[in-house]
Amino acid sequence: MNETKKKPLKNRRGLLALVIGLVLIAALILLFLGLRASRWAARGKNLELLTLVNAEHPAPDDRQQEYELMDEGWMLDVRCAGELQLLLDDCRRAGFSPEIREALVTRALQSERFEARRSELLAEGLSEEAADAEAAKTVQRPGYSEHELGLAVDLIDPALPDGEQGASAMQAWLAENAWRRGFILRYPEGKREATGADYVPWHYRYVGQEAAQQIWELGLTLDEYIDLFYPEQTD
Ligand SMILES: [Zn+2]
Repeated sequence: MNETKKKPLKNRRGLLALVIGLVLIAALILLFLGLRASRWAARGKNLELLTLVNAEHPAPDDRQQEYELMDEGWMLDVRCAGELQLLLDDCRRAGFSPEIREALVTRALQSERFEARRSELLAEGLSEEAADAEAAKTVQRPGYSEHELGLAVDLIDPALPDGEQGASAMQAWLAENAWRRGFILRYPEGKREATGADYVPWHYRYVGQEAAQQIWELGLTLDEYIDLFYPEQTD
């Protein structure tokens, strides 16, 4: 009697163990796939914030952007407007008085600025070709300004003229701390070869906290960082 009772019980236990095992395996597979999917989603999101704009890479025409109007009256991509506000608060708490001089500049406005400069130079007697080249030295060509992304901002110490911004304590504080809020100094000193631009002490670019920290810690420019970690961006 005992023997016949025990056998089905043992079988049932075996079956139960098998079912539990299968459920566990299925759960692990789902977890793995879920993690992978979220990693890829995060990577896609990061890539958007890492959009490279330089002399070889114009700003894409088809970007879907959502803007936020900041208290200061400037427009920025919604993903960085709040972070900039926090950075400005941090900077004020450190005893400085940062001011925004430029944030989002639409392609249309950039075109207007470029054309205005070109017209000035034409009026001064330069040829079409020379005026075009000369204008590009001081005004970025439409499509080649990072400000078109809504992810770049110019921060200045209003007490100082442009020529002294680089030596200001406020700019030094920003260069040291901006990464904490996801911003990087886009055109650092002595990096012309990588960025294609001379040192600009006030131009900050939002790339997200993780990338900003890596760029800061590794001492890279955005151009170098993308070359190293996201080469598919520039293919
Ligand atoms: Zn700028």
